[in-house]
Amino acid sequence: MKTYLVTGGAGFIGSNFVLYMLRKHDDVRIVNVDALTYAGNLENLASVEGDPRYGFVHADIRSREDVARVFEEFSPDYVVNFAAESHVDRSIENPGVFADTNVLGTVNMLNCARAAWDDGAGGFGDHRFLQVGTDEVYGTLQIPEELNPDGSPADPAAADYFREDTPLSPHSPYSASKASADLFVKAYHDTYGFPALITRCSNNYGPYQFPEKLIPLMIHNCVNHVELPVYGDGLNVRDWLYVDDHCKAIDMVLSGGRLGEVYNVGGHNERANIYIVRTIIAEVAKATGDSGIDEGLIRHVTDRKGHDRRYGMAPDKIREELGWYPETPYEEGIVKTIRWYLDHEEWVEHVTSGAYQSYYARMYEGR
Ligand code: NAD
Repeated sequence: MKTYLVTGGAGFIGSNFVLYMLRKHDDVRIVNVDALTYAGNLENLASVEGDPRYGFVHADIRSREDVARVFEEFSPDYVVNFAAESHVDRSIENPGVFADTNVLGTVNMLNCARAAWDDGAGGFGDHRFLQVGTDEVYGTLQIPEELNPDGSPADPAAADYFREDTPLSPHSPYSASKASADLFVKAYHDTYGFPALITRCSNNYGPYQFPEKLIPLMIHNCVNHVELPVYGDGLNVRDWLYVDDHCKAIDMVLSGGRLGEVYNVGGHNERANIYIVRTIIAEVAKATGDSGIDEGLIRHVTDRKGHDRRYGMAPDKIREELGWYPETPYEEGIVKTIRWYLDHEEWVEHVTSGAYQSYYARMYEGR
């Protein structure tokens, strides 16, 4: 029985990871450490409350005292560090908290894990620390000249992709904080022989994502006949991965990855934002039978500052070394995701009440 300390397990990917691991493995124990910021929601984990393999600790990854206590009480074998401020737009508004949580919080996690795991003879036994990173640390790619109608490269062999040795070139305060965290994790491996691994994943989508992010935001606005704010010309391209495929990758890297290595995780599912928005409009209109949902709802708004044009991952290393591949085709995953949000209106209502309203008004209505 291995014990996993999962930070940020009440957020989007973290909660999907907790559910995935408990579904997939009988012999695991998960301790979820989360500060429950606006993005953390224990409702996501209601189905595993009471499962003896799962426990929750309300704590901040920046607190040395709290995190050290968790290590002492639960003696985790592994750490998976999801906890972070994760929204680029918020990082543009308020970068300080991103440095605080994403950089200093990660360093605190590293220090506490190192102190707890050091065997006194320069070794760390079978312990492993996985830092959940993002493709955004690599910066931006050129849009290829020839595109498919969905915004993906017409000739993938001729297009550029991010590889693990692509130089880090973050542009937003969010990606700068995540790049810094990755560098600390790598430094702890290189300096102390600390047993760390890093995954860098492309954009995730699926259930339990906070509706400030593109896909749930557009679904929520469609259902409510609210304008769909699309940055700039809408032609920015992201590589979309269904969240369970990311969870599978983390599980595989944690158990089989080589220490000190970075593994890119991506789906070769590049899509332009405007294409995603159009798909959502069509699918929500079809699923609800609501003829008031159409492309007239789209409103192009001033582009995000420093908006990266294209992200695209080459997940060759994780495929070749560990046999990972994405199982959910985008066309299937997006329909599944839309249905989930339509079937979970209560969840959406809970997370969009209160502070979300003033955030939304500030971002998109200039109030
Ligand atoms: P999220 O914003 O949905 O969840 C973040 C979670 O971290 C929340 O539960 C929040 O309460 C918690 N948290 C924040 N600050 C904390 C602190 N100081 N102490 C303890 N808990 C804290 O984020 P997400 O989209 O699930 O992303 C999870 C991780 O995956 C992040 O590290 C992010 O950078 C990375 N990532 C996300 C994506 C994506 O598409 N969403 C892609 C690649 C990598």
